[in-house]
Amino acid sequence: MKYFPVFIQLSDRPSLVVGGGKMALNKARLLLKAGALTDIWTPTPTPTPSKAFKKEFLKQEAEGRINYLTGPFEAGLVATYDLIFAASGDAALDERVAAAARSHGRPVNVIDRTNLCTFIMPSIVQRGDILVGISTSGASPVLARTIRAQIEAILPSRLGDLAAFAGNFRQAVKARFKWEERRRFWDLFFDGPIAREVLAGRESAARGKMLPLINSGLPDQMSGGMVHIVGTGPGNPDLLTLRALQVMQQADIVLYDKLIGPEILNYARREAELIYVGKSRGHHVRTQDEINHLMVEHARAGRHVVRLKGGDPFVFGRGGEEFEFLERHGVSAYVVPGITAALGCASMAHIPLTHRHFSKAVTFVTGHAENGDPDLDWKSLVRLGQTLVIYMGVNTAGRTSRHLIDHGLDPSTPVAVIENGTLTTQKVVRGAVWELQALIDQHGVEGPAVLIIGEVAAEANTQSLTALVQDGVRKIA
Ligand code: SAH
Repeated sequence: MKYFPVFIQLSDRPSLVVGGGKMALNKARLLLKAGALTDIWTPTPTPTPSKAFKKEFLKQEAEGRINYLTGPFEAGLVATYDLIFAASGDAALDERVAAAARSHGRPVNVIDRTNLCTFIMPSIVQRGDILVGISTSGASPVLARTIRAQIEAILPSRLGDLAAFAGNFRQAVKARFKWEERRRFWDLFFDGPIAREVLAGRESAARGKMLPLINSGLPDQMSGGMVHIVGTGPGNPDLLTLRALQVMQQADIVLYDKLIGPEILNYARREAELIYVGKSRGHHVRTQDEINHLMVEHARAGRHVVRLKGGDPFVFGRGGEEFEFLERHGVSAYVVPGITAALGCASMAHIPLTHRHFSKAVTFVTGHAENGDPDLDWKSLVRLGQTLVIYMGVNTAGRTSRHLIDHGLDPSTPVAVIENGTLTTQKVVRGAVWELQALIDQHGVEGPAVLIIGEVAAEANTQSLTALVQDGVRKIA
């Protein structure tokens, strides 16, 4: 983190704006909005606020919340302010203001000159008391504005009213529930019909329903803890579902596997406890049985457990077993689907898994083998006109290609090996099925990777297709 994000309490605190132009007055206006006592200092006498500001500023002036100062600038001038903006448009003057502020230990921002600032201003989205600050750490204010527009679009306009509404009932909820229950109550509330009414502007109707809800306590399934088995997709966090994101934001405990990277874990609730339960990291080996019991224990202790699994939890992920175990032990369990590796990788590598001309079916199989040799129905896999996607197949690739060819697959059938699909490290290697093992060796593919076998994997067949892919994925070989 290049900057430390904070929100500063400026109510009735002295603040200074140097300059009288539009930029300066904009900052003054923001300070006044936050309740600051604002001095506007200009080298020449009083600026005349433009029409847009005039009415607003006159009122503030009458109340003594805004003061116009003028005269020669002296370093000592800055000593008493909680926050300072330099926006005079005179580079040398702004530099002097910044230096003076620094020497007095006062926070200063010089408009458009990040190197002189001790703090920078985020782009903001406001809904009542809800403030979202967006910063690119100075890298690109335009990007920050674009992000702001996106956030503006997703936050309901009455979100501030909802926050205020919840604020009014905070004490009542606090008196009724213990703290873990409290959080669950609010999760339930913000996800539920009363919140939707507030957002729809029917606040008084919502108010009437709130006390009965608080008094009736939590529904059983909410007070007893629960487990969400969540598919996180192939690794790129942009491919998380909205549901996955919401659930991750409510977690008390997050159990995650080897394939769940930090990019994904970043989206979990900050206070959640993250527990690594990967099965292949030397010293921290946990058996499936231990993982199952861990989930049950935490859920029984009233916690919201989120079990993260790469791709889709029910595709080669033992999610089905976990779900069944939880049900059998009377724990409320839910499943959130995810984009499975085959789908994510194929799209991002521009390989259509089915195609009007080349493939009428697609089959997902596992190349994992207990004894070194995948136990698959080879005869059915070599049927013409289908695409085969092999998960966990890197180690057994040589044997797989031999079996397929032995059972009649044309040795020149195209294959694509996609490693780290959807991530910035994605690597796509193409060739023919007879050389599959050599391709993997030559390109140092270590997985996770899927193998796609079939006509659709041919470079020539995908070149002509419209790109299905977002920018930024590197294609090698
Ligand atoms: N439940 C997961 C699969 C788990 S099995 C899903 O639905 O995707 C693990 C295998 O998934 C890996 O061996 C690899 O074959 C595949 N895989 C997972 N993530 C991948 C990725 N980002 N790129 C390529 N293959 C991936």
